[in-house]
Amino acid sequence: MAAQLIDGKALAAKVRAGLVDEAKAIAAKRGFAPGIAVVRVGEDPASKVYVTSKKKTAEELGFGSWEHHLDATVTQVDLLALVAKLNADPKVDGILVQLPLPKHIDSNAVLLAIAPEKDVDGFHPVNAGNLFQGRPGLVACTPAGVMRMLEEIRFSCSGKNAVVVGRSNIVGRPMAALLINASATVTVCHSKSDVAAEVRRAELVVAAVGVRHLVKGEWVKPGAVVIDVGMNRGADGKLSGDVEFEAARERASFITPVPGGVGPMTIAMLMSNTVTAARSRG
Ligand code: NAP
Repeated sequence: MAAQLIDGKALAAKVRAGLVDEAKAIAAKRGFAPGIAVVRVGEDPASKVYVTSKKKTAEELGFGSWEHHLDATVTQVDLLALVAKLNADPKVDGILVQLPLPKHIDSNAVLLAIAPEKDVDGFHPVNAGNLFQGRPGLVACTPAGVMRMLEEIRFSCSGKNAVVVGRSNIVGRPMAALLINASATVTVCHSKSDVAAEVRRAELVVAAVGVRHLVKGEWVKPGAVVIDVGMNRGADGKLSGDVEFEAARERASFITPVPGGVGPMTIAMLMSNTVTAARSRG
């Protein structure tokens, strides 16, 4: 029997709907809604699409939302000065610097400059460290969205063999930490791993590689849950995932489609992080 699809679009809408009342309660208590500032540098077309979509979602939820668009020639000093200003602005709960930044800017220095309590992307080492130590903090949005999906299908991670393919700071590593915290037995694969062998014994597979159809359907253990984070744009402009979807669907119990799976969850979790940041700042 074909796997059930996990509808990320519908779940993201549910997450967003749940945030509206929370945002209203915060605004009633302190006099202003949760707010997010997004910094975009230069004219990267994908960054423009992402930032517009984040801003639109924030506005729909009644959040404060500010876009700071800087010229590609901005100096690191001026960019750091903007981050410092946003750190000090009481109306700003969340700061997001859209990556990639131009080559002359040290992205790490900029991400490190964001106050950890406003780091709604969850990329600051303080937040990444808290996650690895199982302490509260702001969690990277895409892996947080995956956990929300697992909760929705009532998948209990405890004692399960989970394989994460990819070890990036944005997806693979925080995903592994979340699964460890949820008591899964976690294996992290990368470009030097025997991915087929690891995936074959996984009850949960999270693919975050960026290589179209790297994970073959025949590797999927019957009944496994398959979460495909990959977003690969083909020459025809179509998006496809890291998992061979049709073949994997024949063996899995649940699977996420691409598009319409993990993608929509990421922005919803960014908004959720903004509410968390606002709540914890009081
Ligand atoms: P990344 O930084 O490029 O990391 C890719 C990881 O995959 C690396 O750890 C790399 O291993 C590993 N890898 C590459 N080729 C491999 C192979 N043949 N076998 C096994 N592992 C291999 O990518 P990322 O930022 O994590 O993104 C991964 C994918 O998720 C991309 O398609 C991206 O577009 C997508 N994404 C989606 C969302 C969303 O909202 N849905 C958000 C973020 C990312 P090494 O470390 O050994 O090089």
